[in-house]
Amino acid sequence: MDANIVVLAGDGIGPEVTAEAQKILDVVAEKFAHRFHFDPQLMGGRAIDEVGNSLPDETVAACNAADAILLGAVGGPKWDNPNAADRPERGLLAIRKALHLFANVRPVKLHPQLIGASTLKPEVLEGVDLVVIRELTGGIYFGPRKEAGEEAAEAFDTMLYTRPEIERVVRLAAETAMGRSKRLASVDKANVLASSRLWRRVATETLGDYPDLEVEHVLVDAMSMHLIRRPATFDVIVAPNLFGDILTDEASMLAGSMGMLPSASLGDLMNQQQLPLGLYEPIHGSAPDIAGQGVANPLAAILSTAMLLRYSLGLETEAAAVESAVDAVLEEGVRTPDIKDTGTEVVPTQVMGDLVAEKLQTADAD
Ligand code: NAD
Repeated sequence: MDANIVVLAGDGIGPEVTAEAQKILDVVAEKFAHRFHFDPQLMGGRAIDEVGNSLPDETVAACNAADAILLGAVGGPKWDNPNAADRPERGLLAIRKALHLFANVRPVKLHPQLIGASTLKPEVLEGVDLVVIRELTGGIYFGPRKEAGEEAAEAFDTMLYTRPEIERVVRLAAETAMGRSKRLASVDKANVLASSRLWRRVATETLGDYPDLEVEHVLVDAMSMHLIRRPATFDVIVAPNLFGDILTDEASMLAGSMGMLPSASLGDLMNQQQLPLGLYEPIHGSAPDIAGQGVANPLAAILSTAMLLRYSLGLETEAAAVESAVDAVLEEGVRTPDIKDTGTEVVPTQVMGDLVAEKLQTADAD
């Protein structure tokens, strides 16, 4: 297969983890006789510095023409001035909107080798294997807002949802749940928020088309508790943008570290393979506190390439091979600092990438 992959390395640890992810895609291409063409483009803080725009038009055009997009992370203290005309995160929100990426799919699977790396008790974590589907282009991140401005007397954001925005993401979650254990939890705050009451109403109507699903509606505050009390009882969780953003960071701790969790942002645009044009990224940010030190965990970015191969290129065998290579390295007790445990060997970012690449290369010989 010939595929065009745009790489948005971004800021902070973004370029460090993306380099390792690209290394893995190179091995996949060589091993399975594909040709992946990588097209590096600017987005985020570096784009502001270099061309004065967090999302240049050229980047949008390249992404639109690509089969898939690999993203590191954007942002950092350098661009944190609240009064700045442009911010790295604006680029991220704008690319999601431009590519209609209305759903962020975040699998949270506990690698059994990392059960000791989590702050939660092993008996609570046993069997955790869930998927959070976060609505990505609506809600409070995109509603009408007023900045505090110079006077700093008043500011607001608006959580606005429309029926089609809710229906399409709930439907995607329902389809996902149908392919898994047929359990779906829909998150809202319907006891307080009007937008959540609409969310629950539309979700209930939409899910009427899926009578085989076991559905629960959970208030977001209760969900934040259930996620650490009984995480293994959940399968697919669908949530509005803000709630999904917060819950997925919480859920990442079930897997031991943010550095372990990949994600796929999907929408309704198709690529040249007639598969969904998706954007794939680790769930973590640019981690300025560890940037440039070579200690970032690249596994979330590497596991994001597995999602890219699966969803946007339809290469299931290759995706599974990447996931197995990650498992094999963890099985040998190799760790980055964020997931270290007693009796494990701690390695830097690049070495972790090299080891996964090596496992992938030699997988048949094992
Ligand atoms: P963060 O996810 O960057 O970091 C949170 C903590 O987790 C930090 O202590 C960091 O060192 C650690 N961490 C994150 N990824 C890691 C990895 N791969 N390996 C080891 N440790 C890791 O969140 P933050 O500090 O709140 O945000 C930093 C910047 O990133 C902000 O500018 C924020 O806006 C941005 N951000 C961007 C994205 C994105 O591009 N999609 C997502 C979230 C945050």
